[in-house]
Amino acid sequence: MFNLSHPKLVTLAEAEGYAEVANFLEDHTLGSVVPAICVASDCDHTADLEPDQRAGFCEACGRASMKSGLVFAGLI
Ligand SMILES: [Zn+2]
Repeated sequence: MFNLSHPKLVTLAEAEGYAEVANFLEDHTLGSVVPAICVASDCDHTADLEPDQRAGFCEACGRASMKSGLVFAGLI
């Protein structure tokens, strides 16, 4: 099930310069690395990671909490 309204996904799309989550996904769905964002509530660190990343290391808060935008959207 797609979820384009998750707050972290919206934040990630905005950080990448997209007003619409759908446009962000359109540009990154086929990427070999895609924008990811930290899921911690007190951290909005972003980085380019593997499309299926669900627990990447966050360089900002030190937790294994980086999740790719495609995972957030339910595309993977
Ligand atoms: Zn973090």
